[in-house]
Amino acid sequence: MLLSMLGDSTPVAILITHAHPDHIGALSEMRRALNVPLMAYRGDSTVKADRWLEDGDLVQVGDHTLGVYHTPGHTDDSVCYSVQGDNRVFVGDAIFEGGPGHTSSPGDFRVTLETLRGVILAWPDDTVCYPGHGASFRLGDKGPAVEAFLAQDHGDFFGDATWEM
Ligand SMILES: [Zn+2]
Repeated sequence: MLLSMLGDSTPVAILITHAHPDHIGALSEMRRALNVPLMAYRGDSTVKADRWLEDGDLVQVGDHTLGVYHTPGHTDDSVCYSVQGDNRVFVGDAIFEGGPGHTSSPGDFRVTLETLRGVILAWPDDTVCYPGHGASFRLGDKGPAVEAFLAQDHGDFFGDATWEM
């Protein structure tokens, strides 16, 4: 299915947002079919990338340049890709319309809070986030809910969070 979605475009690289199985299920097949470099953030990643990305890297893909943001919490290898000169960001599982991505420990949840505060909320309100699951959303529309979420004491919580909890 992914191959057919490429249409008549010319793939130049595969960039992943993190190495969870539901995000890399087709990776081996796509690498074989496309024979282009795989780019990923190292962290705790289980893949072997051709290029390990760093926070702040710029990646040229055809006419576009992507900015790399390290956004740990959901996983340590989570990154978001912003389209330079545009308002779109591919956010993987770092943030969804209804809440932040799933976390597996209280420590990971605290890292998620830091990522929301220090990285994601620093983006302009007009940023349109394209998550790995569910609908895209305008960041500014979620800003007040995220701020209210960050103002709460969540104790030793981890798992699936919603802005309203
Ligand atoms: Zn994930």
